[in-house]
Amino acid sequence: MKIITDIKAMQKKADELRAIGKKIGFVPTMGFLHEGHLNLIREAKKRCDTTIMSIYVNPTQFGPDEDLDDYPRDFDRDCSLAEKEGCDIIFHPDSKQIYPDNYLTYVEVEDITSVLCGASRPGHFKGVTTIVTKLFNIVKPHVAVFGQKDAQQAIVIKKMTRDLNLDIDIVVAPIVREKDGLAKSSRNTYLSGDEREQALVLNQSLKMAEKEIKSGERNAEKLKSAIVDLITRQPDAVIDYVEIVEADTLAPVTIITNEVLIAFAVKIGRTRLIDNIVVQV
Ligand code: AMP
Repeated sequence: MKIITDIKAMQKKADELRAIGKKIGFVPTMGFLHEGHLNLIREAKKRCDTTIMSIYVNPTQFGPDEDLDDYPRDFDRDCSLAEKEGCDIIFHPDSKQIYPDNYLTYVEVEDITSVLCGASRPGHFKGVTTIVTKLFNIVKPHVAVFGQKDAQQAIVIKKMTRDLNLDIDIVVAPIVREKDGLAKSSRNTYLSGDEREQALVLNQSLKMAEKEIKSGERNAEKLKSAIVDLITRQPDAVIDYVEIVEADTLAPVTIITNEVLIAFAVKIGRTRLIDNIVVQV
């Protein structure tokens, strides 16, 4: 596996791969890899000849009071996990290259970025769409793989790709969970043993809501209240948001008549966790 840190070198390598007809699959990450990330490599490998993973903790998607400095990092471990999974290239730039002095250009998707995580993390998606566009221009992929774990991010990236006519297939891979149901996340390492136990309520509340919908409940407000009630029984859980929206457009839903996305962000102690489920009626 090759490690590339220089932008120009990455672009040259991508050009060479394209020139010999290789299909490039791309997996953007912030590192501290877990099974969720490794599954994205598998999905890329199924569809492409060469798999490139980026590992870059992007400062512009963190708010001033968020965990940019504390975000877990272990580049050597990441490299060995990615290599074992058959990743061909790791692109690992530094921030001086990505955002040089006097950097002034951003990419912004409107509307669907102002709800859910966008409402509680102002500027977050502007950082995400900017870095993903830049990475697309550096790695030049045919296919890019994202996780359903960040459901809103996947929808925003798909919209950006369509709106800007980017010639890239966006693939969304399912959420990978721990055996006990907790969605895998690099941020799970922040949880104490007790908080880790409390966090199980997140997946449990999604399952409860799914069951209610399958048994005929159609009132989104009632379902949201039931989720809030269940989650806030945990002593250290503080709800950031709980939303039920149309699965494709993120438009608000009052009466459930179609496929919906149930998504939330919850702080367990100091750790902000997100999770979601798509439910068909
Ligand atoms: P991150 O490194 O957390 O920014 O995530 C990089 C990519 O991995 C994003 O597309 C995430 O949606 C995806 N991802 C993170 N955790 C999971 C998970 N548990 N299951 C599936 N995909 C995930």
